[in-house]
Amino acid sequence: TTDTVRPAPADDGLTASELAAVRADFPLLGRTVRGGRPLVYLDSAATSQKPNVVLEAEVEFYEQRNAAVHRGAHQLAEEATEAFESARSAVASFVGADDGEIVWTPGATAALNLVAYAFSNATAGRGGAEAVRFRLAPGDEIVVTEAEHHANLVPWQELCARTGAVLRWLGVDDDGRIDLSDLGTVITERTRIVAFGHVSNVTGAVAPVAELVDAARRVGAYTVLDACQSVPHLPVDVRALGVDFAAFSAHKMLGPTGVGALYARRELLEAMPPVTTGGSMVEVVTMEATTYAPPPQRFEAGTQMVAQAVGMGVAAEWLGELGMSRVARHEQELATELLRMAEIPGVRVVGPTDAEDRLAVVSFVVDGVHAHDVSQVLDDSGIAVRTGHHCAQPLHRRFGVAATTRASASVYTTVEEIAAFREALTGVRAFFG
Ligand code: PLP
Repeated sequence: TTDTVRPAPADDGLTASELAAVRADFPLLGRTVRGGRPLVYLDSAATSQKPNVVLEAEVEFYEQRNAAVHRGAHQLAEEATEAFESARSAVASFVGADDGEIVWTPGATAALNLVAYAFSNATAGRGGAEAVRFRLAPGDEIVVTEAEHHANLVPWQELCARTGAVLRWLGVDDDGRIDLSDLGTVITERTRIVAFGHVSNVTGAVAPVAELVDAARRVGAYTVLDACQSVPHLPVDVRALGVDFAAFSAHKMLGPTGVGALYARRELLEAMPPVTTGGSMVEVVTMEATTYAPPPQRFEAGTQMVAQAVGMGVAAEWLGELGMSRVARHEQELATELLRMAEIPGVRVVGPTDAEDRLAVVSFVVDGVHAHDVSQVLDDSGIAVRTGHHCAQPLHRRFGVAATTRASASVYTTVEEIAAFREALTGVRAFFG
């Protein structure tokens, strides 16, 4: 349920010395920008910085263990395979899944596309006779929300184009919360898939997961959770949430780029047809036909991104050791501090204004100043934020703006950095006035 993902009230955040130790682990946070100004990195929703343990794990892999996995008969291949599979276990246990329920992908976008393509690649014999259960027909419906990142929207539009299914969506209210008032008319017996983001990368709003999962279950639809912006910031237990699929990227959770994960319930993966085909995902290949390996290998064709996967496993362990409830509590304080920007004359925050209800990713507009100009002025002060539509054009259209500026935090962000951001933001209107 939604409640299970909120930090328990008993959890404390991080102490000052713990936070200092955390920051000391991230070499990049120590650099200066724009003529010697200390970097204030408030763009973690786009990509996070990486702790030493992750950087070292990748280097160590290349220095000591580099080999292709699952194929070689030599010691290095064994060690590489062991590192690759241990990393899978670490990522699985970080989100409450079994090892066999995690498929490596190049990222969340690839994971969501994998699911969307599996639903148009379903013929009996591909992934077992059970694969037909994934087949979509004209008139079937896929439900998303108006708050989606394009990565959880365009693949479903494309799936509709391939199959004749129809895309429907839930709107958002003026605060950017998913509007459940027409849930019963949007999610119906025709719905086959309900895909939604756990946390908006624009407003930080947390989706009503329990309500959406219940509505989908009542009509026998599959649920697909875009967990990109929740897994790095909240305790996430895919089983407690009750979703069928979940996608997330390593690079937003302190891990490397080029790797991510798809979670799917084991019995779904068993039945799901492969999408990318080739080496490593097969059992027997003749000139006439091929039988496929069991999951997760069935979905991991080609030479894998082993060093990156190892890095992702280490990132998951690092966060797990810190404790995600405590990370969430720390970031809740950061969300409160970020939301105080609304006190600055002319600054308008989009999305919920209460930190209980949202995470530390806050998009805003400054009256009379273009979003790009806002970020330029902040950048001159060494403050890195993001500007644009953040891959969520429909949501920006809903708010009546073409672009916003976004400040987003992570476990290593401090209250002092956010104060420096607010101070720089205070000067923006005067600068352009
Ligand atoms: N979904 C959300 C909510 C995101 O914030 C992002 C990243 O920008 C994605 C999906 C896509 O992730 P990636 O670019 O790592 O595939």
